[in-house]
Order: sequence, then structure tokens, then C-alpha cells
Amino acid sequence: MSDENQACLFCKILGGDIPADIIFESETAIAFRDINPQAPTHVLIIPRKHIATINDIEDDDQAIVGSLYSAAREIARAEGLSDEGYRAVMNCNEAAGQTVFHLHLHLLGGRTLGWPPG
Ligand code: AMP
Ligand code: ZN
Repeated sequence: MSDENQACLFCKILGGDIPADIIFESETAIAFRDINPQAPTHVLIIPRKHIATINDIEDDDQAIVGSLYSAAREIARAEGLSDEGYRAVMNCNEAAGQTVFHLHLHLLGGRTLGWPPG
């Protein structure tokens, strides 16, 4: 593992070094419940590959990134959110509020979500 990955919180969760409430696993992605939930359902869906931000997605990563949305669809269904609705969002860099620099799709649902976000 590279030095960057060794310091990465979500790589540590992937490696089992830090515990998480993992609710979904596939060949390319895992998902676990956010430690500080902002909605009744707040799940983080992350690629197994360390990609720091949206800016760092390579063209060859398209299948991986697509698989995050397939995971969102499956988790939303399992959480009973498919019909009422939910949000799947990724923050990129500081101005958007990114604090963990390993790509993650937030899946939020179970309450009415305001728009636009603050
Ligand atoms: P972001 O601000 O978009 O980078 O999102 C990072 C998210 O990771 C925040 O919602 C945090 O609450 C969440 N988080 C930080 N540490 C952990 C952890 N150990 N387990 C689960 N979620 C975490
Ligand atoms: Zn990482």
C-alpha cells in the first residue's frame, strides 16, 4: 500500500484496521454507515481503489465509479427508500466540505432533504 493509502481513514476501514458498520460489499465497492449521520439513513459508499477526489477519477475508473451508483440503488432498496426518494452526493475538496480524501458517495434518506444544500 502506498504512503498516501496508509494514512487514509477509509483505506484503513477497507483493510479492517478500523471498525465500521459495513452493510454492503461488492468486488469494487463497500458501504458502511456514517459515524455522524445527517439523516435516518446515512451511508457512505466507497470504491475499494483509493481515489482521493472526483478530480482524481481516471477514464479507466468509469466502471468503478458506476458501481458506486449500483450500490446506492441496492442499498436504497434495502433501506426502503427507493420510492420516497433519497440523495446520493459526493463532495469535492474543501469548499464543498470534503474531509476524507478517499472518494465516497453519501446516500442520505429517511427525511425530507432541503435543496439547495447550505
Ligand atoms: P465528507 O465530509 O464528504 O468528506 O464526508 C466524510 C464523512 O465521513 C463524514 O460524514 C463523517 O461523518 C464520516 N466519517 C468520518 N470518520 C468515519 C468513520 N470512522 N466511520 C464512518 N464514517 C466516518
Ligand atoms: Zn483511501
